[in-house]
Amino acid sequence: MNGAAAPIDAGTFDYIVAGAGSAGCAVAARLSEDGRNRVLLLEAGGRDSGFWIHVPIGYSRLFANPRINWMFESEPEAELEGRRMYQPRGKVLGGTSSINGMVYMRGNRADYDLWRQRGCTGWDWDSVLPFFRKAEDQERGPSETHGTGGPLRVTDQAIHWELGDHFIAAALEAGLPANNDFNDGEQEGAGPFQNTTDRRHRWSTATAYLRPARRRANLMVRTNSHATRVIVEEGRAAGVEFLCDGTRHVAHANGEIIVSGGVYGSPQLLQLSGLGPAALAREFGIPVVRDIPGVGADLQDHFYVRLAFRCTKPITLNDVANSPVRKLAAGLQYVLFKKGPLTSNGICAGGFARSDPRLERPDIQLNFSVWSFAERNNRGVVPHPFPGFTISAVHLRPDARGTVMLKSPDPLAAPAIRFNFLRTQYDLQALTAGMRLARTITRQPTLAPYVAEELIPGREVESDAQFEASIRKNGVSNLHPVGTCRMGADEAAVCDPRLRVNGVRGLRVVDASIMPSVPAGNTNAPTIMIAEKAADMILEDARAA
Ligand SMILES: Cc1cc2nc3c(=O)[nH]c(=O)nc-3n(C[C@H](O)[C@H](O)[C@H](O)COP(=O)(O)OP(=O)(O)OC[C@H]3O[C@@H](n4cnc5c(N)ncnc54)[C@H](O)[C@@H]3O)c2cc1C
Repeated sequence: MNGAAAPIDAGTFDYIVAGAGSAGCAVAARLSEDGRNRVLLLEAGGRDSGFWIHVPIGYSRLFANPRINWMFESEPEAELEGRRMYQPRGKVLGGTSSINGMVYMRGNRADYDLWRQRGCTGWDWDSVLPFFRKAEDQERGPSETHGTGGPLRVTDQAIHWELGDHFIAAALEAGLPANNDFNDGEQEGAGPFQNTTDRRHRWSTATAYLRPARRRANLMVRTNSHATRVIVEEGRAAGVEFLCDGTRHVAHANGEIIVSGGVYGSPQLLQLSGLGPAALAREFGIPVVRDIPGVGADLQDHFYVRLAFRCTKPITLNDVANSPVRKLAAGLQYVLFKKGPLTSNGICAGGFARSDPRLERPDIQLNFSVWSFAERNNRGVVPHPFPGFTISAVHLRPDARGTVMLKSPDPLAAPAIRFNFLRTQYDLQALTAGMRLARTITRQPTLAPYVAEELIPGREVESDAQFEASIRKNGVSNLHPVGTCRMGADEAAVCDPRLRVNGVRGLRVVDASIMPSVPAGNTNAPTIMIAEKAADMILEDARAA
């Protein structure tokens, strides 16, 4: 595979984007918009042609599908009874936006203001808001904080879930304020969630950005093309080597190379290229091009525990999944009318709260889902055989920091992922408070009649020590990893605030890996915002050159 034969010349482009995920599709589409820039988009996975990719409810079927999913595993986590954290990631056009839960969430205004305070000029809330708006096609119409006419459809739940209303009412009974829009910078409260769908189909970045751009003669999309090395010549990124059908190819860039492989793929590609920690490169016999110790450091993720409840009424998605008749009816309803339960991701409501009243902003997210599952791991998702619902308590600002490092010089081998979850008392306390709040909500007059039984963690869990034990046993990554090619103004940062890799000309990283800290919310919308802003900066720099 890596024999001595010269690689096939794949041509010369103005921009090469490696990785067609949430960020990569958006960046490639924006860079090719003028019809002049020649753009090559490389994707290790295939086309997003599978039926279940586009049906919102289908995402449970994508969770452990090796055809379109990298299905990574972390190393054993010391504080989690040695468990490995399963890490699904999209390996398909659209990347993880083609397999994710479709919740549209931007985070808190203060998250971005903190990025600026840490030296990332131009990344405060007021500066990033125009890019959130530019990306957006908000169903509720335009406002100061929302945009319409952008590529990314953002809609309310297409189907009305009775239980979702009861969750919101019960959260208000428990003392949370009402919040109808979690995306205007302020988050506290309970309310409905919005989704990246058009009420019928998933709106991945492949659908939103790439599909309208595909006919452009100046955009070449190559699937099944795994980038294996960024070639650096005299301090400038000059090309990308990639494997396609087991054969080496090389594409040349006379403009810039944009690495968009995601939080695992991007640091891995840089490390394979000799653009990471020098000691790591030497360990694997990779020539050191530039010692950048921060590549693969600063991995950060939300951490969560689910509370699962048996429901007293058959009004949940479990009941559709477990009944052949209702499943058939739902299928027909979708195929014929594009309506019904299949249009829903099932995560219909939620809330944001503070684990401690002394905190100035929420550090807990509650996600309310109208399903519950017996199993959700690398073997797939299996719903409970009875009515059920779930409240996930997510800790949004965990102290844990981890790493993503090569395990092998083989570009097709998975990297070593270490989260180091639950290393501080705050991480445990915050999650315990979140779980207690979730339980309190289920005991309010509006929701209590729907609770037949608390399955996880179980009502016998009462003391702090019992909660801690259940967190260590059941807690998992919330699948929002960021930070492994962190931007910053400090020496340890991988990229500067214009996302240029420090010390290498013509090379940027554009994806979730550049986030200096994880925003308080799901990470797809922030990643798309990053891509929009990056494209803007790249074109601006090209005009100024
Ligand atoms: C199961 C799940 C549910 C989620 N739910 C939500 C949600 O509801 N809402 C939300 O906001 N966020 C959610 N997220 C998180 C969110 O989707 C991600 O944070 C976001 O998609 C990351 O975008 P990215 O561009 O950084 O990476 P990705 O979208 O993962 O893109 C990376 C792309 O690069 C490709 N690639 C990698 N290495 C190479 C290489 N060497 N050569 C070529 N191509 C390569 C990959 O195949 C992939 O297509 C979820 C994540 C998961 C896993």
